[in-house]
Amino acid sequence: MSDSKKQLVWLKTCDLRVKDNSALYHGAAAGPVFAVFVVTPEQYNEHCDAAIKQDFWYRNLLKLGEELDKLNIPLKILHCASFNELPDELFKLSVIHNVSEIHFNKQYGFNERSCEEQVIKRFEKNSIRVNSYNDTLFFEPGTLLTGKKTYYTVFTAFKNLFNKEIEKLAWQVLPKPKKQIPLDIESDAVLSWLDETELRADLWAAGESIAKRRLNEFIKKRVLNYKDTRDIPSINGTSTISPYLAAGVISARQCFEALESLGSKKNNVGAVTWRTELIWREFYKHILVGFPHVSKHQPFKVKTSKIVWNDNAEHFLAWCDGRTGVPIVDAAMRQLVQTGWMHNRLRMVTAMYLSKNLFLDWRKGEEFFMQHLIDGDLSANNGGWQWSASTGTDAAPYFRIFNPVTQSQRFDPDGKFIRKFVPELKDCDKKTIHEPWASKSRPIKLDYPKPIVDLKITRQLAIEKFKDL
Ligand SMILES: Cc1cc2nc3c(=O)[nH]c(=O)nc-3n(C[C@H](O)[C@H](O)[C@H](O)COP(=O)(O)OP(=O)(O)OC[C@H]3O[C@@H](n4cnc5c(N)ncnc54)[C@H](O)[C@@H]3O)c2cc1C
Repeated sequence: MSDSKKQLVWLKTCDLRVKDNSALYHGAAAGPVFAVFVVTPEQYNEHCDAAIKQDFWYRNLLKLGEELDKLNIPLKILHCASFNELPDELFKLSVIHNVSEIHFNKQYGFNERSCEEQVIKRFEKNSIRVNSYNDTLFFEPGTLLTGKKTYYTVFTAFKNLFNKEIEKLAWQVLPKPKKQIPLDIESDAVLSWLDETELRADLWAAGESIAKRRLNEFIKKRVLNYKDTRDIPSINGTSTISPYLAAGVISARQCFEALESLGSKKNNVGAVTWRTELIWREFYKHILVGFPHVSKHQPFKVKTSKIVWNDNAEHFLAWCDGRTGVPIVDAAMRQLVQTGWMHNRLRMVTAMYLSKNLFLDWRKGEEFFMQHLIDGDLSANNGGWQWSASTGTDAAPYFRIFNPVTQSQRFDPDGKFIRKFVPELKDCDKKTIHEPWASKSRPIKLDYPKPIVDLKITRQLAIEKFKDL
């Protein structure tokens, strides 16, 4: 056992960076410090965390280990099956290394918060001081409330208060910790806990410098046009920063700082629209804490739990496989499975098609997304799904159902995106490609399924079922 008292920084899957990391920064300032990451594969499976996302965590952890090494901060790796064993294992490690204080950034999912509570109990009972930080958000959930001291359920009102309060908030991007004198603690090798690694590493390279480059390029070249380009899936019109934000390879503060660097152009409509998307991210995390039932497979609007969803395994499989016969839906689903990411407009289109046209339980879609998304995030995914299924907070009204064909004609007018992911349709002209089986001009031969449901009829049925509530 080592004599000198040490600071322990518990790193999570949401804060895989050395720069602007509150727990790491404050732990190092109080140093000497070492870090620990706890691998919990059973927990990941229980949360349906996609293999591509877990691999992204692993690859970023490798990079993080290298960065910590440059600062002489050892990185220990613990392996626990789930959160149940984590507090004990973390405590044992802190005894071995004579830890006087532990630092960690808070997570806001229900299970994560319960795990943190157990850690706090275990450490405080043994007189080890616990320092926890609200790092992933600008405002700690519970600090932006309505006049009645309740959580906001309407986004615009939340956004207005956010914008007012952030003017008074002394937020800053923290530097990386200073290099410390080497400790007598050896770093552990970072080994993958998965069967396969380098999953789509060609698209999603790991590391803070990559994330920063991606952000800077977006801010320099694309953000000012964001309002016009964000809905067109065939062009690179959004930041594609979501995997990095979800894993905390970059922080929301760094994104806001990048917007500030635009000077007066930060008030340009593109920049303001992008900033609003980051506020949506914050909003859904507040919802998770204010209404914990949403993390327990319950709809936000409790009365919608009475809906009897269809039970049709074939339809669900066709949706998962990208073989529904609706080209834009199929292209989007194939984009998800092949790349681990789906364009935001198409997340809404595919989610609405599953929950309204197929009238399948939105939770099945939510789970499938989590199993495949590299940016899978409980709050944003749940929020997006409940918005689309009209069961959530500030959700799409049940009678406003997207017509996927109209969406396709509007946002992929030439069918460029469809052609990329549904090569069976690559020779269709730009009119036919949106609904190939509707073409009356000549009989066509296609290795592509006919629509599995009629869009008009199913839309009407969904509206009636919601009306019945
Ligand atoms: C059904 C459904 C499921 C979704 N699941 C997820 C998910 O698991 N993880 C996730 O990060 N986002 C999710 N979103 C939100 C959104 O689709 C993605 O954040 C976005 O497509 C990521 O691409 P980007 O980084 O280029 O976004 P940009 O348009 O560049 O936006 C910048 C950032 O703002 C945040 N953001 C943008 N839109 C939203 C939103 N509607 N809600 C919350 N945050 C937002 C993200 O962190 C995003 O990276 C979901 C949306 C829907 C409709």
